[in-house]
Amino acid sequence: MKVEKIMVIGAGQMGSGIAQVCAQAGFQVILNDLKPEFVERGLGVIRKNLARQVDKGRMTAEELENVLSRVETSTDIQSASSVDLVIEAAVENMEIKSKLFSQLDEIAAEHTILATNTSSLPITEIAAATKRPEKVIGMHFMNPVPVMKLVEIIRGLATADETYETIQEITKALNKVPVEVNDFPGFVSNRILMPMINEAIYTLYEGVASKEAIDDVMKLGMNHPMGPLTLADFIGLDTCLYIMETLHEGFGDTKYRPCPLLRKYVRAGWLGKKTGRGFYVYE
Ligand code: NAD
Repeated sequence: MKVEKIMVIGAGQMGSGIAQVCAQAGFQVILNDLKPEFVERGLGVIRKNLARQVDKGRMTAEELENVLSRVETSTDIQSASSVDLVIEAAVENMEIKSKLFSQLDEIAAEHTILATNTSSLPITEIAAATKRPEKVIGMHFMNPVPVMKLVEIIRGLATADETYETIQEITKALNKVPVEVNDFPGFVSNRILMPMINEAIYTLYEGVASKEAIDDVMKLGMNHPMGPLTLADFIGLDTCLYIMETLHEGFGDTKYRPCPLLRKYVRAGWLGKKTGRGFYVYE
């Protein structure tokens, strides 16, 4: 199937990155969020990222303008009627995603594929909110999107081969590497990564070491590019908690219980880098 126009729902850290790589690959993009200021913030992040590439000599100022000219903004979900693919990157919450997919199913053209960037929620359940489960698929980008190569492609129970093949092709066109996985809580990436982050939070909670020491052990001893507590701040502590809850509920196994310290930080509104404070404080 030929995809020319893509709508990205949610202009947060993931949505803005997804819109950027789609526009850089030559697709027409609609970047959507609930309020004009949210869309503007997302567009501002794209502009800043591209300007940095111009400064480094990797892109010309003219190319920057061309990329930006391919990004339209919208606060109206009805914009989905004009696109071939929707990539949803709103908050990690099943109620919100189900409602969005049910609306999108009503609005989008028959051929339109509905993809979700969920980190852990069941694709099969999101697809069940629509009458086109064969056209619903997981397209899990990594953070920061413009830098990270992997896209985990998750098939729901009813995802058609044709949908999978189209998404695989688009992922390659975005200069990313698709890896196919099946629909189980946390898929592969977060089933392995998030319990490690949760364990690092327990290690802090139980007073085994300071946050800096925990991060240093994993950076210098395991060759991780950043420590797990710094990574949690980058991902967003609310997203980390949602994912742990999904693993806990999905497998019914206490080994996935979220650390009480993680809950406490989220309740305090310390969500990491995006709110200026998580395990660390950001300017
Ligand atoms: P974020 O909080 O930065 O952005 C979410 C955006 O969605 C916000 O701007 C919010 O206003 C918008 N939004 C909420 N409801 C909406 C609706 N009904 N319609 C349109 N916009 C709506 O979150 P994020 O980190 O960008 O995460 C987005 C999704 O990507 C989540 O499902 C998350 O699990 C997934 N994800 C996150 C990461 C990560 O490292 N943060 C990595 C991979 C996947």
